[in-house]
Amino acid sequence: MYMLKVCRCCDAIVGELETDDSGIVGVDYALEVTGNVAYTLCSQCMQELDGSRLSYYQ
Ligand SMILES: [Zn+2]
Repeated sequence: MYMLKVCRCCDAIVGELETDDSGIVGVDYALEVTGNVAYTLCSQCMQELDGSRLSYYQ
């Protein structure tokens, strides 16, 4: 099965993902699969989230 990885924050296409019948190979923790789209965070939004989290706690 072939899936698109889409940033859940800015809707940018992050990449593509190939899975076998038994499920997703190489799932990362931020991944959330809906249909044949895997929502994740792009590196830019990941950085922004980390940054805002850091400044929140400072
Ligand atoms: Zn993004």
